[in-house]
Amino acid sequence: MTAARHSRAGRYGVAIISVGCAMLLKLDFGPWLGEESPFLLLFAAVTIAAWYGGLGPAVLATLLATLGTDYFFLHPVHRFLDLDHSSSVRLLIFLIEALTLSAFSAALQRARERAEIEAAEQRRSRELFRNTFELAGVGIARVAPDGHFLQVNQRLCDILGYQNEELLLHSFQSITYPEDLPLDIDAQQRMLAGKAKRYAAEKRYFRKDGTVVWADLAVSLVREPGRPDYFITVIADITDRKQSEEKIRLLNESLEHRVEERTEELREANAELRAFTYSIAHDLRAPLTSMQGLAQALMDDYGEAMEPMAREYTKRIIRATARMDTMTQDLLGYSQLYRSELRLEPVSLESVVDEVLAGIAPNIAARRAQVRVERPLPAVIGHVATLQQIIANLISNGVKFVDSATCPVIVIRAENGGDAVRLWVEDNGIGIAPEYHERIFGVFERLHGVAEYPGSGIGLAIVRRGAERLGGTAGVISSPGQGSRFWIDFSIHS
Ligand code: ADP
Repeated sequence: MTAARHSRAGRYGVAIISVGCAMLLKLDFGPWLGEESPFLLLFAAVTIAAWYGGLGPAVLATLLATLGTDYFFLHPVHRFLDLDHSSSVRLLIFLIEALTLSAFSAALQRARERAEIEAAEQRRSRELFRNTFELAGVGIARVAPDGHFLQVNQRLCDILGYQNEELLLHSFQSITYPEDLPLDIDAQQRMLAGKAKRYAAEKRYFRKDGTVVWADLAVSLVREPGRPDYFITVIADITDRKQSEEKIRLLNESLEHRVEERTEELREANAELRAFTYSIAHDLRAPLTSMQGLAQALMDDYGEAMEPMAREYTKRIIRATARMDTMTQDLLGYSQLYRSELRLEPVSLESVVDEVLAGIAPNIAARRAQVRVERPLPAVIGHVATLQQIIANLISNGVKFVDSATCPVIVIRAENGGDAVRLWVEDNGIGIAPEYHERIFGVFERLHGVAEYPGSGIGLAIVRRGAERLGGTAGVISSPGQGSRFWIDFSIHS
């Protein structure tokens, strides 16, 4: 019980009542209690007041007792502060003793109160620690410097599958997965030697049933002055996370493996397809040439004798075989772009364009086309034959896809953009609707009939593929009736 717990009125009331009671006792039973009894009884009253109420009530009790003794028990009685010498001395001694007693018991009381408060705080913090330790969602252990478990919480027992007492018979070394032990022991030694304060790691333990559990471990060392006392170890079970990570890793591995397999299959299929295209185009040419030759021989040797209709059919055979020959040759050229190794080197665009123009001069003249080259054209990184093929196809198309009433005008120019060059081949032809801008670069993609504009539908496929083989790409800007502007991007040679 502490004075602080009682109300002020209660504390002072007890002081007054205890002094009053002592007085009454003395007044009623004076003759039986002896000469010194008022002081003894009043000492008792002051002690009760000090014990119950602390210093203030004890002083009040002392004063009341002093006055009461003076009035009731010391000669002359029933008068205040009119004492003879010996009574004054006795009263003064009582006053001093009672005040000393009050101060002493109040100090005692305060010390007791402090001790009680400290004990309560310790109880609370012990309880708090016990609750934290026992109810924590992670495993916690106190571990001796040699590695033996000194104290473990329920969560740790659950994680490791042991009963509390069983786990206390183990050390962390005895339940650690062998591969993870060297790191643990090294960390333990470093901490004991004062070289590290904490240690954290992801490691494996053996559960009691022999299965492996993954843990996120954090260890700190508690030191007594001068020596290591114990480790505090906190362990979170991360087995689920680790298993998920492992699953994802395996999945990624198998995915990579599958992608590699599929890529290889695709590569093989592509190579086969290219070989197939090449051999078809190549092998077709021999019978085709003989068909063409025989039809021509038929025409030359027996043309006169033939019925007009038979002659027309023979002419058609000759035209069809010629067209098929062009197609197979183009196809061969296209597949060649996949098959051959290109050695890239600096090439002057200007000389390539000049050579192409010289090569197709008859075609240009026949169509009365004008070709304007905006010189100078830069040098690029390329391959002469491929560049010639690309530029020839673009100029030929520019000359070809023009309506009959228009004289074709072709402009060839280059645009410098940092470390790349864009070559433009622009015409004033029939133009191309935007929805076909990509399609026309595919093999055999044509927007017109052969009768209207002859061709095999491979020219632009060669342009796109050739540009890609040179490390660039090709595209077009056009709309119907507005002419077309084809472009190819190259790396520049400076
Ligand atoms: P081809 O010229 O043998 O028909 P291409 O692959 O060179 O084959 O061209 C594919 C198609 O793209 C052509 O059939 C034509 O419809 C269209 N085309 C190509 N160049 C032009 C152009 N300069 N102007 C308009 N249309 C074009």
